[in-house]
Amino acid sequence: MTATNPGTELQALVSRAEDLAHDVTLRAVREWKAAEPSRKAIGYMPVYVPREIIHAAGMLPVGVFGAGESVEIVKGDAFFQSYICHIPRSVLDLALRGALDCLDGMLFPSTCDVIRNLSGMWQMLFPQKYVHYIDLPQDPSPGLGGAFFAREMRQIADDLGRMGGTPVTDGRLRASIAAYNENRRLVEELYQLRRSQFWLAPASEVYVLLRAGNVLPVEEHTKLLAEYLTLARQSGRHPVDMARVAIRGCFCEQPPVDLIRTLERAGCTIVDDDWLIHSRWPRGSVDAQGDPFEALSSAFLYRSPSCPSLYRAHERKGASLVADAREARAEGVIFASASFCDPALLDQPMTMAAVKQAEIPCTAFLYAENTGQFQPIREQAGTFADAIKLS
Ligand code: SF4
Repeated sequence: MTATNPGTELQALVSRAEDLAHDVTLRAVREWKAAEPSRKAIGYMPVYVPREIIHAAGMLPVGVFGAGESVEIVKGDAFFQSYICHIPRSVLDLALRGALDCLDGMLFPSTCDVIRNLSGMWQMLFPQKYVHYIDLPQDPSPGLGGAFFAREMRQIADDLGRMGGTPVTDGRLRASIAAYNENRRLVEELYQLRRSQFWLAPASEVYVLLRAGNVLPVEEHTKLLAEYLTLARQSGRHPVDMARVAIRGCFCEQPPVDLIRTLERAGCTIVDDDWLIHSRWPRGSVDAQGDPFEALSSAFLYRSPSCPSLYRAHERKGASLVADAREARAEGVIFASASFCDPALLDQPMTMAAVKQAEIPCTAFLYAENTGQFQPIREQAGTFADAIKLS
């Protein structure tokens, strides 16, 4: 019998995750639905939606995070002015081409005005599909914001239960919360591995692994994470000398994977980030014993990660970034925001001031999901890495 090589298995697993990460036309979702024709899939946009509710209705939650570099936008541009970010155009373009027609509905969280407008367009363009704009609570008190969000989630649960024929009972929702808790636990383990031994779990691999979770059932994604963790620890990869950096600003429109690789090639290893932040939202486990709607609501109020799209009156801007950077032993911070992203760019002066006050070196650049030119970013990141190493 031939012994299996963990390096080859790891390569195959990362390559599968990369295929899924680039699956913007949702081939994996179509295959999942074809296996049982009564199945339904519900898309969601960044930044946060309670995926547990979709799962409890027996449906597949599908992250719709833009088309990256893979699609030339033609129709999507006709719906938006020039000076906004790229993600709404590419998502709309995909939908108008029929690439998202396997989705039976879409959830649009209250991330920003762009996503709010997109939800209205969706309702007009695809009247046969279920569309819900999720108003996330602004008030942090349990009696007001908490009760409001629990009611909002019950409404979605009722809608999906009616649509798919599987009512979202408390028992089903608790089981879904447990499934996502396990997923978040492994994502956290992956982040811990990258923090402690980043050469075993490079950021570009961590990214495609998380992104694969946008189109896979949560149980399958959890299995993929567990396999990766085992193979990465057995890989025998050697330590390398790189500048440890945290990256912020990628919470909605995603950077191209090649941009992440460019940063790595320039000598920066990313030990903390905010991309695909929904996969780590909320921090820690959600209570899977009591009232599940109250549990999800309370986790959102008290254990959401800091994110520019989220209003939190009591938080000093930048304080959590400084804390995260210190915990990850980051030697520098890169502010990498999508061009024209209002929430990110309005936050940046305050978070950058906090980082500078903490005497953590930082640099900033803008990107678009279809950025194809990486040379200027490589030079900037290379200089930044050198400056960190020489200081
Ligand atoms: S990238 Fe920024 S502006 Fe664009 S949809 Fe996302 S949060 Fe809104």
